[in-house]
Amino acid sequence: MSDTKTDRSVTIITWHYVRDGAPADLHARSVKEFEHQLEHIAMHFTPVTLDAVVAATQDDNARLPADACLLTFDDGYRDHYEIVFPRLVDRDWQGVFFPVARAARDHEVLDVNKIQFSIAASGLETISNETRTAIDAARADHDLPDSQTLYRELAVAGLHNPPEAMFVKRALQTRLPETLRARICSELFSRHVSSDEQDFAKQLYANVDELRDMHAGGMALGGHGERHNRMNELDPDSRDREFQGSREFLDSLGLPTGDGWSFCYPYGAFDDAAISAAQQAGCTTAFTLEPRIADLTRDTPLALPRIDTNDLPVTS
Ligand SMILES: [Zn+2]
Repeated sequence: MSDTKTDRSVTIITWHYVRDGAPADLHARSVKEFEHQLEHIAMHFTPVTLDAVVAATQDDNARLPADACLLTFDDGYRDHYEIVFPRLVDRDWQGVFFPVARAARDHEVLDVNKIQFSIAASGLETISNETRTAIDAARADHDLPDSQTLYRELAVAGLHNPPEAMFVKRALQTRLPETLRARICSELFSRHVSSDEQDFAKQLYANVDELRDMHAGGMALGGHGERHNRMNELDPDSRDREFQGSREFLDSLGLPTGDGWSFCYPYGAFDDAAISAAQQAGCTTAFTLEPRIADLTRDTPLALPRIDTNDLPVTS
C-alpha cells in the first residue's frame, strides 16, 4: 500500500467471518489464518482502542502510534464471540464489533446472509436461475423489466465477485423493490438452507448476552443498523429509523450512546445525506469500506476508510 503512515493515521482493518470449514462464498478467514494475521499485526502494528481513535478525531494535537491499527468486525457473527474475542483478550487488544439489532436481538437472518448461504448450499447458477424465475413471476404485480434485461444491467464483474454473483447480489440487495427482494431472499433461504430462520440466526449471530460479555471483557461495540440497509438508498425517515434503532440497541446492551457512539455503514454504503444523519444521531465516528489507511487530519470522522482482511497478509 502506498499510503504514508503518520502519527495522525490509522490502519483500520475489517473482518467478517472467522471460522473453519466455511464455504468459499463467505470469504471467511480460517482460525489459523486469523491467528497468523494477529501475529502479523503484532509484528508490524500497534493496535489502539476505539476511544483513542475518537479522541484523535476530536483533537488536532492528539497523536497515535505511527503504526496504529484498529481492528473491526462486522455483522455480529458468533465467530466473533467464540474465536475472535478470546484471542484478542489474550493479547490485551480491543476489537470493535458492529452487530445488527434485528439479527442479534430478534434472531432474524439478514438478507445478505440469506443470499450467501443459499449460494453456498446450492451453487451460484441455481440461485441465479431461481432469482430470474422469481423476477419474471413478480412482473405481474411489479413494474419491472424482464429478468434478461435486468441481468444485462446488473451482471457486471465486481472486485471480489464474478458477473453472475453481482447479478444476484445487486438484484436482491438493492435493485428490486424492498418487499419483493425480502420475499425472494426468504424463499431461497427456506428452500436451500433452513426452514427455521430463528434457529439458524441463533447459530449464526452472537446474542445480546454474548455481546454484553464482550463489552464487559473490554471490547468496543458500535451500531450497524437496525436491519442492515444501505444508508445511501433509504428515504430520510427510514434512514433516521436505522440510526435510532442502532442507538436503542446499544443503549439496551448497557452502552449509553448519549456522549457519542460509532456507526458502521452496512455494505460500506454512504453518501452526504448519510453522513449528516450520522451526525444528527450523535455519532462521533462512522466507518466505510473504502480501502485505504485513514488519515485523521484529512478524513471526516464520519466516513473513515478501512482495509479488508483479505488484503492483509495471512502469514507473518
Ligand atoms: Zn455488514
